[in-house]
Amino acid sequence: MTNGELFLLIKNTLNNGENPDFEFDSRCIFEDITGLSALDLALNREKEADGAAAEKALKLAKRRSEGYPLQYLLGEWEFYGLRFKVGEGVLIPRPDTEILVETVINHFSAKKQTDPEIADLCSGSGCIAIALQKSMPRSRVTAVELSAEAMPYLSANIQRNEARVQIIKGDVTDGRLLDNFADPDSPGDHRQIDCIVSNPPYLTAEEMSELQREVAFEPALALDGGADGLKFYRIISCLWKEVLKEGGLLAFEIGFEQGEAVSELLRQSGYGDVKVIKDLGGNDRVVTGIKL
Ligand code: GLN
Repeated sequence: MTNGELFLLIKNTLNNGENPDFEFDSRCIFEDITGLSALDLALNREKEADGAAAEKALKLAKRRSEGYPLQYLLGEWEFYGLRFKVGEGVLIPRPDTEILVETVINHFSAKKQTDPEIADLCSGSGCIAIALQKSMPRSRVTAVELSAEAMPYLSANIQRNEARVQIIKGDVTDGRLLDNFADPDSPGDHRQIDCIVSNPPYLTAEEMSELQREVAFEPALALDGGADGLKFYRIISCLWKEVLKEGGLLAFEIGFEQGEAVSELLRQSGYGDVKVIKDLGGNDRVVTGIKL
């Protein structure tokens, strides 16, 4: 089989009417397995494809045609200009989440603070924590994650991006986790940090019951925000306020219909200057507040 024939076969496998991005996905799978870019393919269409590679590529194409996420098949994905290892244990980094990272960076850049201390809660692959640390090299970032399945991805991503991010394994709804932020100079007190950032699970029970084909392969633990999707916003905004300094920034990613509810929650929990920020698609995507 030639390279051209292989590419066509991959494309035909993916073009089953359920995947509008089949052309893009075909190119990604073809390049990942053969190492040939679109240009390489154009120049080597008639060349014989490696048999083992062809077999592997077609296997991936079949899996993709059944709805398995492209990002998991490739094993890595880009976020904020960095590469992250991804797989079944972690949520796939979304372009929308880059707005959250940008919001935090803009906040500190406006304040001319280059060394904020930040905690990223429900860190997953670590994409937020790592993107922030790499963008603000003097920042100190802690990534908090509960899932044992996510842990190897989180550590590998910190390592491969050479980020200075410390991991705390635990449940962000468990107050005992705050002991990790004990103030060494004042026993019994917590250190006060500059920013809490989080893309917590925020899907409602109804949304969980009708997940898109691809999303159903992602960890429920990273998606399920309780009956009304707001469980983690309620708990984090209260509990983690303890370790946030006055004037510190709380920044959440939200579902596109949660802007008002999360803003109200923040106001009720003692945050001011509450803002809702839209993503590139014009949907509400981020809510921020300042601890009063
Ligand atoms: N953005 C994800 C979705 O599509 C949800 C991520 C989350 O719950 N934090 O559905």
